[in-house]
Amino acid sequence: MSTTETNSGTAPAQSASALASKNPATGDVISVHAIQSPEEVRAAVERARSAARSWNALGFDGRKQHLLRWVSYLLDHADELSELIHAENGKPVDDAYLELVLAVEHIAWAAKHAKKVLSPKKVAPGLLMANFSAVIEQHPLGVIGVIGPWNYPVYTPMGSIAYALAAGNSVVFKPSEYTTAVGNYLADSFRLANPELREHILTTVNGYGETGAALVTSGVNKIAFTGSTPTGKRIMAAAAESLTPVLLECGGKDAAIVAADADVKAAADAIAFGAMANSGQTCVGVERVYVDKRVSDEFITEIKKIIRDLKPGDAEGASYGPMTMPSQIDIVRSHIEDALEHGGRAVVGGADSVKERYIEPVVIVDADETCSAVVEETFGPTLTIRTVDSADEAIELANASRFGLASTVFSKNHGMEIARRLRAGATSVNSVLGFAAIPALPFGGVGESGIGRIHGEWGLKEFTRPHAIANQRFAIPGMALLSFKRTKMTTSLVKQTMKLLHGRYK
Ligand code: NAD
Repeated sequence: MSTTETNSGTAPAQSASALASKNPATGDVISVHAIQSPEEVRAAVERARSAARSWNALGFDGRKQHLLRWVSYLLDHADELSELIHAENGKPVDDAYLELVLAVEHIAWAAKHAKKVLSPKKVAPGLLMANFSAVIEQHPLGVIGVIGPWNYPVYTPMGSIAYALAAGNSVVFKPSEYTTAVGNYLADSFRLANPELREHILTTVNGYGETGAALVTSGVNKIAFTGSTPTGKRIMAAAAESLTPVLLECGGKDAAIVAADADVKAAADAIAFGAMANSGQTCVGVERVYVDKRVSDEFITEIKKIIRDLKPGDAEGASYGPMTMPSQIDIVRSHIEDALEHGGRAVVGGADSVKERYIEPVVIVDADETCSAVVEETFGPTLTIRTVDSADEAIELANASRFGLASTVFSKNHGMEIARRLRAGATSVNSVLGFAAIPALPFGGVGESGIGRIHGEWGLKEFTRPHAIANQRFAIPGMALLSFKRTKMTTSLVKQTMKLLHGRYK
């Protein structure tokens, strides 16, 4: 599939009205995309609104068939798409393939479970309303505006796109300006997998933040945003004007706890991957470690052995790629410098590890808990490690963050206990990132990590509105409660019934 053409038309040469997608390893232009104006964004949403009606009319079974066809199409073209992700985001091709596999799992889960999760549900009306039937129906919202980041350009937006589509909505997707080619590939592939469907069920609008802002105020029925916390706050403020609901998947500062009874080698292996894969540009990547003093020396020795051998690069065999977004490089450098100025000691790499396009791995121990490398999202191949006296101290420090996205625990006997005490949307016990690969688990954060959930049943329901219907099946003589014909006798009967039902809890 050509990446120079988008489903918004062939892009002109680069100008103020076009954006060039570039390979972060080489700076080469991959494709050029026309930027949509606010009027064009509104027009795209209107086209999607009309497409939503016919898409919803297909019902759960019809949509499932089309979504699964999309899954097969993506797998048939996995090599092509993995190469494109590699070229545009910079991650190794095998990591790109893994990202695609996880995304495909989500499409399939949403397609196969939407009917069960969203079909009308009867609920008990209660004794007082025994002459009623009560049912909850879930209706799609209409058009969902999805705004995505660049770090997992297929997996992250798919957490919204697949679930919104399975629930019967159409989607207008604004991919990140750094991964516009991948975003358009997704929309094009849905269309190519389902040529008989009408257009605009899944479509893109391209551009920078202004295009995203235009989507927020375009009349969409919900915004599903994945990106940084400051942008999430701006989107929520803009959406408040029209009470457009928002789902916000924002940043994190995820901690890993290594308890005294942990399998230290397994912990070092998993945490090294969780911290450094994708150049550390993972919202649920490990950025801080709290390790019990009884295993601290052993853990630091083990993780050093693994991390010092990691090599960033563009060639096959590289551990991870370049930094996708050039402006992040200065942030990572400043966090490393701040940590080293505030008590931190680099045990792998240091300030010199930050190069022009690549950052070599950096591990810093015992930096002050108030420095930016411990408090702010770094989003680079860096890790801070602090030795603690106990699991209690580790939990307290892990929770002392304005973020609360995900977390990791290594402990042979107390993993679940520790996990339950963490203030985070997800925890992986004795592994890293496990929750992200299980479609049935909800995904999302607390605090400044966001609002709402993608994935699983929660993710399907996010893109629907519940409609509560109470249907009076027959009238009970003398029991007209909701009528001006109500008698004293009715009230006295209700009083006796209520006493029988609820008067005994003394
Ligand atoms: P970003 O906030 O800079 O941009 C995200 C998207 O928002 C882009 O498409 C951008 O064009 C758009 N945007 C920018 N300003 C906007 C505005 N005013 N209105 C509407 N849209 C606007 O984030 P990023 O740098 O692309 O992504 C990295 C961030 O994403 C990190 O903080 C990371 O933790 C977070 N992230 C979170 C999750 C999660 O699931 N919680 C997943 C992946 C990434």
